Amino acid sequence: MPRERACRNCRAIVTGNKCENCGSTNLTASYSGLLILIHPESSEIARLLGIEKPGKYAIKLE
Ligand SMILES: [Zn+2]
Repeated sequence: MPRERACRNCRAIVTGNKCENCGSTNLTASYSGLLILIHPESSEIARLLGIEKPGKYAIKLE
């Protein structure tokens, strides 16, 4: 299983060298907490984190 990393730009969890969510290559393996959003439009946490698309996100980036 490939190492998962978090995008520093949008917090999405990605397995490649590039964020599939925003296209950024600014990734970090140092993150904690995992948030899976299915309906970000109705999630208070998504609103607080500024997330608009469904997916897996890191809660805290180191
Ligand atoms: Zn991103």
